[in-house]
Amino acid sequence: MKRLYLIRYGEIGLKGKNRFMFEDKLISNIIKALKKESDELDVYKTYGRIYVETDLARDKVIAKLQKVFGIVGIAPAREVELDVDEVKKNCLEMVQEALPKSGVTTFKVNARRNNKSFPLNSMELNRELGAHILINTEDGRLQVDVHNPELMVNVEVRKKAVYIYTQDIPGCGGLPVGVTGTAGLLLSGGIDSPVAGWMLMKRGVKIIPIYFHSFPFTSDRAKEKVIDLTETLATYQGETKLHVVHFTDIQTEMNDKCPAELTTIIMRRIMMRIAEQITLNNGGKSLLTGESMGQVASQTMESMYVTNMVPEMPIFRPLIGLDKVEIIEIAKRIGTYETSIQPYEDCCTVFVPEKPATKATPDDVKEGEKDLHIDDLIEKAIDEVEIITINPYK
Ligand code: ATP
Ligand code: MG
Repeated sequence: MKRLYLIRYGEIGLKGKNRFMFEDKLISNIIKALKKESDELDVYKTYGRIYVETDLARDKVIAKLQKVFGIVGIAPAREVELDVDEVKKNCLEMVQEALPKSGVTTFKVNARRNNKSFPLNSMELNRELGAHILINTEDGRLQVDVHNPELMVNVEVRKKAVYIYTQDIPGCGGLPVGVTGTAGLLLSGGIDSPVAGWMLMKRGVKIIPIYFHSFPFTSDRAKEKVIDLTETLATYQGETKLHVVHFTDIQTEMNDKCPAELTTIIMRRIMMRIAEQITLNNGGKSLLTGESMGQVASQTMESMYVTNMVPEMPIFRPLIGLDKVEIIEIAKRIGTYETSIQPYEDCCTVFVPEKPATKATPDDVKEGEKDLHIDDLIEKAIDEVEIITINPYK
């Protein structure tokens, strides 16, 4: 049997063409998230609402929709024919289903009549339905509270049917993934970068994760960890193409030819060049990192200044103003934390110099890079990038 859900979405500032784009993207993202496990699925929109009908178990529907960005509320609903007695009967049943096992509950009927040909107006509906519920539930079990009810019985009278719902389960908000563009996410195995990726996904950005792997300095377990993180991130955006860049030759060359204290920053500049090219090849227009101001030596303002000089596209750092504890809290909530804390080091920790420069100037870095001839190595790394496609919806 198919069940109905009303989907509420926000961003009321969106108008005209943008609004349609937003709605169509949200609908297609909902379909992708549900279609694998639904035998029957229907997703459509009318009058500023999206309706989902599916035979999938309710818990699964909610869990999946709570990972679709752009959804503000999910209301399991009943669709009832335009008949007062039918509306009364269904309202009462839904209240009985929602009642706790014991204790008094306050409620309120909140009716809205868009369809003026329905015999009762909103006020009359509120009154009649409220009375019907009171009369047909145990004495004293329920009370009406119009200001602060525990249970809200929403009744929407539309052109072809009446919709009733008592619950509005929160969604994750944001914008549907894909509406604001594509970004290359520099994804390490750490705590921060997956959170950074999630934050921009929330704002409608499709993420291309890019991981720099330095085998054998970093083990294949480190790569597995990044694959696991990508799998978690993919549950929020669907098909995700992880790009693994084989970085060993470049790092070795850099360690031979550059002053030790500058290797961290030079390495970051090279990462940016490679990531920018991969992002461009995928139609993206920005880069994304998990940096937070002052967290480690490479995350000083000076270092970001010299790193930013390399790519032409903007580098977004959504965690820039967050403390580690705040980042950890998000990581736990989105499901990446447990994977991130597994102990396999990334290529940065393997090559960390004893005293990394925290205040390198553009001139210092230019001088430090002068013996480096790695254009061919960079080109080779881009040509040989390994693409791992992860699709949680298939
Ligand atoms: P994270 O927790 O994301 O690993 P971090 O605190 O370890 O961050 P750094 O090692 O300075 O910080 O890395 C800063 C950012 O550079 C990371 O958030 C990530 O975006 C990027 N980065 C670092 N190492 C790699 C890597 N091996 N592959 C891809 N991106 C990386
Ligand atoms: Mg790290």
